Amino acid sequence: MPNTRNISALGPKKFTGIDLKAPADYAAGIPSIKSALSHTFKELGILKSLKTLSVMNQKEGFDCPGCAWPDPDKRSNLAEYCENGAKALAEEATFKRVNAAFFEKFDVETLSNWSDFEIGKSGRLTEPFLLKPDSKHYEPIAWKDAFQLIAKELKKLQSPDEAIFYTSGRSSNEAAFLYGLFVRAFGTNNMPDCSNMCHESSGVALKETLGIGKGSVTLDDFPEAEVIMVIGQNPGTNHPRMLSALQKCKNNGGKIITVNPLEEAGLVRFKNPQQVNGIVGSGTPLTDIFLQVKINQDVTLLKLIIKKLVALEESQGGVFDHDFIQQKTQGLENLLKDIDTYQEDELLAQAGVNEAVLKDTIELLAKKNKLIICWAMGLTQHKNGVENIKECVNLLLLKGSIGKKGAGTCPVRGHSNVQGDRTVGIMHYVSPALNSALTKHFDFSPPDKTGLDTVHSIQAMHEGKAKVFIALGGNFLSAASDTLYTAEALQNCDLTVQISTKLNRSHLVTGKTALILPTLGRSEKDKKGRFLTVENSMGKVHRTKGILPPASENLMSEPEIVAGIAQAYFGENHHIPWAQLGSNYDLVREKIEAVFTDFKDYTKRSSNTGFYLSNNARSGDFSKLPDGKAKFSICELPHHQLQANEYLMMTIRSHDQFNTTIYGLDDRYRGIYNERRVVLMNEQDMQEMKLKKLDIVDLTSHYEGVERRAESFLVIPYKIPQGNLATYFPEANVLVPYNHFATKSHTPISKSVVVKVEKIK
Ligand code: SF4
Repeated sequence: MPNTRNISALGPKKFTGIDLKAPADYAAGIPSIKSALSHTFKELGILKSLKTLSVMNQKEGFDCPGCAWPDPDKRSNLAEYCENGAKALAEEATFKRVNAAFFEKFDVETLSNWSDFEIGKSGRLTEPFLLKPDSKHYEPIAWKDAFQLIAKELKKLQSPDEAIFYTSGRSSNEAAFLYGLFVRAFGTNNMPDCSNMCHESSGVALKETLGIGKGSVTLDDFPEAEVIMVIGQNPGTNHPRMLSALQKCKNNGGKIITVNPLEEAGLVRFKNPQQVNGIVGSGTPLTDIFLQVKINQDVTLLKLIIKKLVALEESQGGVFDHDFIQQKTQGLENLLKDIDTYQEDELLAQAGVNEAVLKDTIELLAKKNKLIICWAMGLTQHKNGVENIKECVNLLLLKGSIGKKGAGTCPVRGHSNVQGDRTVGIMHYVSPALNSALTKHFDFSPPDKTGLDTVHSIQAMHEGKAKVFIALGGNFLSAASDTLYTAEALQNCDLTVQISTKLNRSHLVTGKTALILPTLGRSEKDKKGRFLTVENSMGKVHRTKGILPPASENLMSEPEIVAGIAQAYFGENHHIPWAQLGSNYDLVREKIEAVFTDFKDYTKRSSNTGFYLSNNARSGDFSKLPDGKAKFSICELPHHQLQANEYLMMTIRSHDQFNTTIYGLDDRYRGIYNERRVVLMNEQDMQEMKLKKLDIVDLTSHYEGVERRAESFLVIPYKIPQGNLATYFPEANVLVPYNHFATKSHTPISKSVVVKVEKIK
């Protein structure tokens, strides 16, 4: 039976009443305290807010459900969270409920016409819900029946590869390990995860060049760094406590170079709310040098920097670390040959940066030897996302800045356990070592065929080759590229299952049958004093234990849900003790310890501040790489042939947003209030197009003859390079073609989409 519901995948296109102010010139301070408290007080009440916030990110408390920025070993008694962590808590611990009465009142067609902000504000899911093929209303279903329904649909498939098992980065190590175990025992490696959409490019590049797909620095490196480069990243909004780490570097005399198409307030000046200077004073200036690069010209700029440093090295010496290069790297000769083929003036024009600012950059970098490079999706979500990271590694290797204190790679991860999920086995790749360990400890043969990543899962569902979609957390539809294509893909499925805390658009754009399985939030108490573990952005594994009563008595933890599905599928007498594993997290950790070498004494060592996983790049050991050395790479220059009225567009997050969760309608740091349907545009470009502030435009992208359209955006003049535009994610995801992604990593090109602008009014 076809899926006949009249669902809006994009939500309303109406404006919400914009108010524009000057962009802020600092981050945090009193406004962030006010914002944090107003969000939590509104959703939780004053007492519950204060009690819960006091244990967030504390050693015996729960891990922030927001980003993956690490906690310091010595925690502040005052507050160990940022404004956006408080907003994440407010969303999770809200008193509002999505229960049976809610779904009786609102059908899925009606709800799909709400904005993502309105849907998200509906509240916590209270019990499992079923959407039948002939119905427009979700209705309650018993847990047991839900598990049986999933098992029945999985058994109907002709091949295990007709099922897709997605994981969002919020899931704990224990839930993720159990999920990966079930999916492999079921017989597929179709395990796309949110890494595929964000830092897969980092993983691929770092693995090839340094032998590990993770960053090498720890928090302790920040105060020791002489220079920190922050490239393609907006930490003030997306990883706010990173600003404290940058402040420590500055306080010790370090310098910060920022490379980005937009000058973000968070990197201009930081008013640390925990310090008197941050409350009543002027705070700490962060960025010393701002290189306003054009969208996707980072390789061009880095090549120019390297070329100028090579010239300095040749003329005066002392710029590069020759001992390190000789002992630990390979490929320098080829790199130098490649660099030699470029002209400085051409690179400068293409990168679009100011020549005088570049000169300051070179002078600074030439003298310093302890360099950290931090980055996020401004580097990874391009066709050449992998090359962007490799070019950063080239610079670090030249400076000998890997494997020593105060230096290294820092890919800043978005979701709180996205790295941990991958560590414990969530991946579509085949790991022979993992497969043989699973065979040894669980007595089955895991599949040895590479599974589908995110973009290829969407394609498989769209083509009818995959029929069941199960998501362990997340909001897949809004996170993925090409929204309308992804919606059609999900609607093609026979069954979609979402394991979630709150309602989101992926619960409304569903397969013919859909299930919502509600789960505990991070801040909530699990049964019998159980605790879970997560891994932060710097490879440290630690406990998380909630304190609040669950939003409903009818919630299950993620490990229980995964075990419930597995037991329904395999039956009670299966040789893997699913029910036992789902209820005993110590046992799951014992199994993780047995399967992965890095987790010795897992449960014990996860207490207090936790333990670091091994990291060869951190210790400067490249012996497992081919030829036993870290690798210089030759990266091509990116080229974008733009026609008249074509622009390169990047999607960005507003300050009231975390990934797909919209906390509010303000982007305080950029001075944009109460509106999300905006496009930031260079004033010169506006003049050439005869556009005025707040004119309404449609944006279109055209790839392989397919026009994609994002309707009704308000034009805002902004300091962005000419030829570049910025719009919010996920509103503009509809423009990102599903089949355009980074070479090798398959990360969608969400930061460099060629679009046209059409004036409507
Ligand atoms: S920096 Fe990230 S992990 Fe820390 S409190 Fe803020 S959102 Fe949460």
